[in-house]
Amino acid sequence: MEANIKSCGSSRLKKHHVCLRDKIPMRKEYLVYGSPLIGEEEVEEVVATIRSGWLGTGPKTQRFEADFAAFQGIEYCVAVSSCSAALHLAMLAAGVKRGDEVIVPALTFCATANAVVHSGATPIFADINGEDLTIDPEDVRRRITPRTRAILPVHIHGYPAKMEPLRSLADEHGLLLIGDAAHAIEAEYKGIKIGHLADITCFSFYVTKNLTTVEGGMLATSNQEWADKIKILALHGMSKDAWIRHSDEGYQHYQVADAGFKYNMTDIQASFGIHQLARIEKNLEWREQLWSRYDEKLTDLRLRRPPTPSADVRHARHIYAVQVTEQSPLSRDRLLGELHNRNIGSAVHYTALHLHPYYRRSFGYREGDLPVAEAYGNTTLSLPLSPKVSDEDVDDVVEALADCLRS
Ligand SMILES: *Cc1c(COP(=O)(O)O)cnc(C)c1O
Repeated sequence: MEANIKSCGSSRLKKHHVCLRDKIPMRKEYLVYGSPLIGEEEVEEVVATIRSGWLGTGPKTQRFEADFAAFQGIEYCVAVSSCSAALHLAMLAAGVKRGDEVIVPALTFCATANAVVHSGATPIFADINGEDLTIDPEDVRRRITPRTRAILPVHIHGYPAKMEPLRSLADEHGLLLIGDAAHAIEAEYKGIKIGHLADITCFSFYVTKNLTTVEGGMLATSNQEWADKIKILALHGMSKDAWIRHSDEGYQHYQVADAGFKYNMTDIQASFGIHQLARIEKNLEWREQLWSRYDEKLTDLRLRRPPTPSADVRHARHIYAVQVTEQSPLSRDRLLGELHNRNIGSAVHYTALHLHPYYRRSFGYREGDLPVAEAYGNTTLSLPLSPKVSDEDVDDVVEALADCLRS
């Protein structure tokens, strides 16, 4: 009961809430949404790194970059402090600047559009397609203007965006294709790894993502010139491999080539990444099993389940999101609250981004501008899915949902 009392809102309501909750069947322990699984290998590697004395960007970061490049089968990978940093650097390396427009999906995390803003350019929101929830190439086409410089698709929830039509559009109009693969490290499109499908692809290693370094990100590209530029911009704009300046090779002078940023990854973070990457396929297999279990057990509930991947894609199974429908007796927000009352954590990925105050105020977006993303954003609810989630946890979630949708 401790947890319930603690999670109740104002003290005036406390008694009432506890009373109500006593009648609700629920799990003993709160099921936290998006908790990572950290192995002994990570713990030992972090300790070894601390003992090595080299804590900042160094040999472990280099190893993690090489391992990740091998996994994606791409020439150049640069590890950075977050995917937000990666997206910002991708914009800068690709030459996106003030006056340019970059087309982004309305269904994404704010970091996608904010990276465009930080480069000085304007984010132009495009709608998603109702089937797989990725950016709709036809809507992208309608939003291309002489100022458009890049398209920034997001492989939402782990489902690869329609990269073939997007590539055709980009080629036709001389645009760059930058991928936000924060949800989609393991994804493939027509047998090709996701890191290969855009000019630059950005990954996130935030705590809830499919691979975590606590905080961290990666850029993948086959363009060496861009990779070099990204490396320099990620460390103050100092000349290449400036991190070596404090090594046993003796002090080395560096040149400041640009006004860069402090976006480098540390060896402590890379120590997590090396072992998280080694287990990435195993973790995906487990999430695939949980996914099927949800799919099976939710069939009879008045909810829409996530899209079934088409045969030509490999889904990275990052987020299992259901939708309330006209038949559901509760609104999405009521359902969020009721699940919480039953000790089940859930989340929303995402409310349509253009409706947040900043984008309305700065770019004049209004309700109704991007109807498919808005409708989805108002009805979606993400259920716990991570290597730490067990079959029993899924059963608890399903039972709680069934209970909520009955009442
Ligand atoms: C998490 C996320 C990001 C930002 O990643 P950070 O590593 O937290 O900066 C960007 N885009 C999407 C779609 C995300 O989910």
